[in-house]
Amino acid sequence: MVDKLVNSEANARRIQMVESCFGSSGQPLQVPGRVLVGEGVLTKMCRKKPKARQFFLFNDILVYGNILIQKKKYTKQHIIPLEEVKLRPMEDEGALKNGWLICTASKSFAVYAATDTEKQEWMAHISKCIEDLIKKSGKKPAAEHAAVWVPDSAASICMHCKKTQFTTFNRRHHCRKCGSVVCGPCSNRKFLLPSQSNKPLRVCNACYNTLSRQRAGDLPSSSTAEVGDEGEGSSGEEDSDDEWDSPAQKYNQRPQVPTFYRDGEI
Ligand SMILES: [Zn+2]
Ligand SMILES: [Zn+2]
Repeated sequence: MVDKLVNSEANARRIQMVESCFGSSGQPLQVPGRVLVGEGVLTKMCRKKPKARQFFLFNDILVYGNILIQKKKYTKQHIIPLEEVKLRPMEDEGALKNGWLICTASKSFAVYAATDTEKQEWMAHISKCIEDLIKKSGKKPAAEHAAVWVPDSAASICMHCKKTQFTTFNRRHHCRKCGSVVCGPCSNRKFLLPSQSNKPLRVCNACYNTLSRQRAGDLPSSSTAEVGDEGEGSSGEEDSDDEWDSPAQKYNQRPQVPTFYRDGEI
């Protein structure tokens, strides 16, 4: 049981190990009451393609990062508070099997386990942690979840105008509201989506119109902005953990099975 692990030496040692694997690139993870519930490699659907990421499930947060050296060095740490998380199972689709969605207020994405058993295990453990956390802390689950981004490869033409062909020069953009891949002219305005950012974010024209209608009467001038050339870099256009992979990942074709530390029933 998680409660039994709270003050255990083994738990403290494991958390310290995770912290040292991220080194100075990560946040301190040793917090009173925190328990490392499980860890393992999942394939995360990134903007360009699926990539192996190391995941750590704690009783209050979900942490993941890029794998530099398996079990030794991780980078690009992401921390998701569990009260924000909502899981949604996905059907198998071609080569993409055993997947589910991890939806959070600021970002939602798909992950895939190696087998159906591992998928069920992960989902059950994560759900149980969320449930316990909300019960224990009284924290409010997030009401709104960010859209899952359509992968670049799934759209060769703009999903809004259905005309623009994407090329090196005609770049793909993502609507932060619906996750569609759209061309520049079809997403040249921004809208404030407070659950995702305190800055207005790029949205497609369809979402812009819907959001504007919903907000009518709500000071539209302060919640919207044109997408300018100089605004491009600051709008979080790139998926931040998406850029590169270490060669080591190529050798990790067969990831280890996940380890869950709590015994007994889940
Ligand atoms: Zn378009
Ligand atoms: Zn949209």
